[in-house]
Amino acid sequence: MAKVIIIGAGGVGTVVAHKCAAHPEVFSEIVIASRTRSKCDAIVEAIGKPNVSSDTVDADSVPQLVELFNRHKPALVINVALPYQDLTIMDACLICGVNYLDTANYEPKDEAHFEYSWQWAYKQRFEEAGLTAILGCGFDPGVSGVFTAYAAKHYFSDMETLDIVDCNGGDHGKAFATNFNPEINIREITQNGRYYQDGKWVTTGPLEIHRTLTYPSVGVRESYLLYHEELESLVKNFPSIKRARFWMTFGQEYLTHLRVIQNIGMARIDEVDYNGTKIVPLQFLKAVLPNPQDLGANYHGETSIGCRIAGLDKEGKPLTYYIWNNCSHEVAYKETGMQAVSYTTGVPAMCGAMMFLTGKWVKAGVNNVEEFDPDPFLEAIAANGLPWHEKFNIDLEVD
Ligand code: NDP
Repeated sequence: MAKVIIIGAGGVGTVVAHKCAAHPEVFSEIVIASRTRSKCDAIVEAIGKPNVSSDTVDADSVPQLVELFNRHKPALVINVALPYQDLTIMDACLICGVNYLDTANYEPKDEAHFEYSWQWAYKQRFEEAGLTAILGCGFDPGVSGVFTAYAAKHYFSDMETLDIVDCNGGDHGKAFATNFNPEINIREITQNGRYYQDGKWVTTGPLEIHRTLTYPSVGVRESYLLYHEELESLVKNFPSIKRARFWMTFGQEYLTHLRVIQNIGMARIDEVDYNGTKIVPLQFLKAVLPNPQDLGANYHGETSIGCRIAGLDKEGKPLTYYIWNNCSHEVAYKETGMQAVSYTTGVPAMCGAMMFLTGKWVKAGVNNVEEFDPDPFLEAIAANGLPWHEKFNIDLEVD
């Protein structure tokens, strides 16, 4: 039984709060704290349980975080604010002796660049403080890393190629909308692509490489190679991997909108002067795009995210393996009021927190999810709305 603070009251924070509240035997007290108090209050009201309360914090401010943590004395903070706040929250955790979990690696606001080095640099300080930090515990990163660890533990002696495949086969009926925070999402997609091959990183143009892949229950979708943060930790933690890539599906309509947004300068993340006021075009765009949290009501279809792995099995024979989850937007919405992208991120974050609080994932230092035992976590996500499936010795379509 432990108290947790959830920072961030967006789509993901809402799902995490609902899911934690469903397990009072683990999460005895839950505080939802974010910049805008009214959003936290709305979640508290929707859940309607006496052990769930709200608070307010600007998570860019270490003193405000320290004050919040000292007031509530949580065992763990679940950071589902934005990636910009990761380091300030980790600093406050070290000052107050609080354990830490997040779903996205740190990004500086003024540079669309993500890598783990900033957070890995906290390893020694978390070790010395005897505190556990769990990094990247959403779906991807998150379940994608645990799926890989599960494959290594149970099936492979040598994993040679890893392809993480992420398909949103849903339709929200809008001409253009992003499924999670538009600013973070557009920064991620408009970057150069990157993949790992024979010990080196290979850079591609944005969305330059694409393949037609088949997703269970969804069908055939055009899939684009992107850089995704979990590739960095997975090739480090599983050094037998010779090639690691990440693929995400996009429809033509989405790509056309994205191209126009870039061409007219609305994806810029530097400040421009507008009538004497400094604005960041991408932040302005976020203000006029549909709010991802409001997409759920009309969202149909499923997400399908998994890992396709090839290598040698425990006896040294060639093996191909596919492990995945499909999640229905409608079912996710009915349960939490949020669509499947928020749901598939929030459920693993709750399960990671549960793993820590029940003593299964406790390790002083800064850890990526694949460094822990995958079995109890995969059992937990299946029991909490994200069942997963496996296939062996099939055509992985990713040669
Ligand atoms: P939203 O934009 O919906 O929500 C973000 C929340 O964080 C809002 O409540 C926002 O408050 C709050 N916030 C932002 N800045 C601050 C601050 N300085 N202090 C306090 N609170 C702040 O985002 P999502 O819920 O869609 O995403 C949350 C996180 O999940 C992101 O980091 C995203 O990258 C990650 N994610 C991870 C995925 C994975 O699979 N690993 C997939 C999808 C998302 P306010 O309303 O006041 O702005």
